Amino acid sequence: MMQVPLTVGPMLEHAEKFFSKKQVISQTHDKLHRLTYADIGERTRRLMSVLDGLGIQKGDRVGTLAWNHHRHLEIYFAAPGMGAVLHTINIRLSPEHIIYIINHAEDKILFIDEDVLPLIEAVQDKLQTVEAFVVMTDKSELPESTLKPLYSYEELLHTGDPTHEFSKTIDENDPAGMCYTSATTGKPKGVVYSHRGIVLHSYALGLADSAAVSESDVSMAVVPQFHVNAWGTPFACTWFGSTQVMPGPRFTPKRLAEFIEKFNVTITAGVPTIWLGLLRELEQGNYDTSSLRAVLCGGSAAPKGLIQAFEQKYKIPFIHAYGATETTPLVTLSRLKSYQEKELGEEDKLDQRAKQGALIPGLDMKIMGNNGEVAWDGEQMGELLLRGPWIAGEYYKDERSENAFVDGWFHTGDVVTVDEEGTLKIVDRTKDLIKSGGEWISSVDLENALMAHDAVFEASVIAIPDAEWQERPIACVVLHEGFADKVGKDDMLEFIRPQFAKFWLPDDVLFFDEIPKTSVGKFLKRQLREQVKEHYNM
Ligand code: ADP
Repeated sequence: MMQVPLTVGPMLEHAEKFFSKKQVISQTHDKLHRLTYADIGERTRRLMSVLDGLGIQKGDRVGTLAWNHHRHLEIYFAAPGMGAVLHTINIRLSPEHIIYIINHAEDKILFIDEDVLPLIEAVQDKLQTVEAFVVMTDKSELPESTLKPLYSYEELLHTGDPTHEFSKTIDENDPAGMCYTSATTGKPKGVVYSHRGIVLHSYALGLADSAAVSESDVSMAVVPQFHVNAWGTPFACTWFGSTQVMPGPRFTPKRLAEFIEKFNVTITAGVPTIWLGLLRELEQGNYDTSSLRAVLCGGSAAPKGLIQAFEQKYKIPFIHAYGATETTPLVTLSRLKSYQEKELGEEDKLDQRAKQGALIPGLDMKIMGNNGEVAWDGEQMGELLLRGPWIAGEYYKDERSENAFVDGWFHTGDVVTVDEEGTLKIVDRTKDLIKSGGEWISSVDLENALMAHDAVFEASVIAIPDAEWQERPIACVVLHEGFADKVGKDDMLEFIRPQFAKFWLPDDVLFFDEIPKTSVGKFLKRQLREQVKEHYNM
C-alpha cells in the first residue's frame, strides 16, 4: 500500500472540496455567525499565511484561550495545517496553572477571547516565551489592553493569503496538538497529540457502533474546545461534513436548549453537570428536542437517573462514554449488543448502559489487580491499562511519565470491573477508592445509588480517616429545591440500604448547597474532604 501520512490539514481540504456549502454556526460575544466550510477553509488558509508571517515555524506551539466558536475551529486546522502545534489552554484553571502550562509548553503566540484578556494581562509578566497576542473579537477596533504586541484576529486575516497551501512536509507522527490535564493535585501534565492519532481517532468517532458522526449530523459540542479538543468532534465533524453549532462564550442551559431546537441539533457532547443543567431547563421550558439522536456524556460517571430522565421523559437517546486527556479521548462507549437489546429486561438494560461500555476497535486493554490480571467476571476490581494508536505514550517533558507509562501501557489510575461481555465499569479513581477494613468500597457506586433518589440533585462520597476501619465513607448530598425539610440522613440510607453490603453504607450523610467542582465540572473531592473534616473538627 502507499505510505500516505495521516495528517490534519487534508481533513479540512476534504470539507472544502466535498462539503463547501455545509455550515458552521457560531456564537461569539456579539453575534451569531454562519460560515460555510468554503469560508472556513479560506480563512484557515489566510491564518496559516499570517502565522507564517509572524514567524511561527514547524513545531512551534500556538496557544489558545478561547471558548467554542468558528475562530477557534480555524486555529484547530491552521496550526497543525502548517506544521505548528495547537495548544488549547483551559481558561478555567488557576492563574498559577495557566502560567505553568504556557511556560512549560513554550507557547510562542497566544490567541485569546476578549473576555479572557484580563486573565492574561494579570500574568503577562510571568510568561517567558510568548512573543505575540491575538484577540479574537468581532469589533473593528482593538480593545484597551496592556498586552503587547496585540493584534486583532480579523485584521490579521484580512492581510492573509486565501490561497496559502497546507504544509506537505508533515510526518504523521509529528505533533499536531497538545492539552494539559486539569490535575486535581500537582502540576498539570501535558499530552501531545500526533497527526496520526487525531486522524485515527476521528475515524473512530465515525464508526456506526461508536458516535456514528456523519454528514447528516448537526453537531453541537458543549464540551469545551480547550478540553481534549472538545473530545475530537471539531476534527471529525469537519472531515465528515457535519453541520457544526458552536455555543460560544459563557453559554447557559437556556442557550443550549434554544440552539438544539433552532438548529435541529442531532448530536451533542458534554459532561454530566451540563446535562443536569439542561434537564432542569427542559423541565421549565417547552422545547422541541426531537431532532436529537444522541447526547454523548463522559468526563465523569453518568448517573442512571440522568440517563432515564433523558430517555423516558424526553425520548432523547443518551450515550455514556469514557476517556481521558491522555486518550484523545474516546476509549469506550456504552451501547447494548443486538442480543442484549432483545434478551435483557428494562432494568438490566439500564444497568448495562450506565456502565462505561465496550472498548473502541483499535484499542487494547488490561485490568491489573494486586496479583496480576483480573478475571472478566464483573466483580474483581483492577486498574485499567490501555494501549493504542490514539493513547499517549508519555507526558510532555515530565518525569511523572515513568509511573504512568510502563512497558507500553498507559496506567489510567481508574479502577474498573469488566463483565463477561467485555463491558467496562469504572468503579473509582485509584485515589478516591475507600479502603475500609481491608475491603474496597466504590464511592462511585454509592454516588450513583444516592443520585437515583428523587430528592437528590447531586451526591459525592468521600473517605474520612477512621481509627478502627482505616477509612469510612461519608455521603455529601445536594438536594433539589424544596426538599430540604422533607428528607434527611435516614431517608437517604434507607433508600440505598437494599443495594449494598452493610459495611458499604456511609457513616453519615451531610447536606450541602453545592459540591465543589474542578474546572471541567468534576467533583473536587480533595476540597470536599477538607470541608467534611472541618465539619467534624478533624
Ligand atoms: P482530568 O484527569 O484532568 O480530570 P480528564 O478529562 O483527562 O481530566 O479526566 C479523565 C478521567 O475522568 C478518567 O481517567 C476517569 O477517571 C474520569 N472519567 C472520564 N469519563 C468517565 C466516565 N464516563 N465515567 C466515570 N469516570 C470518567
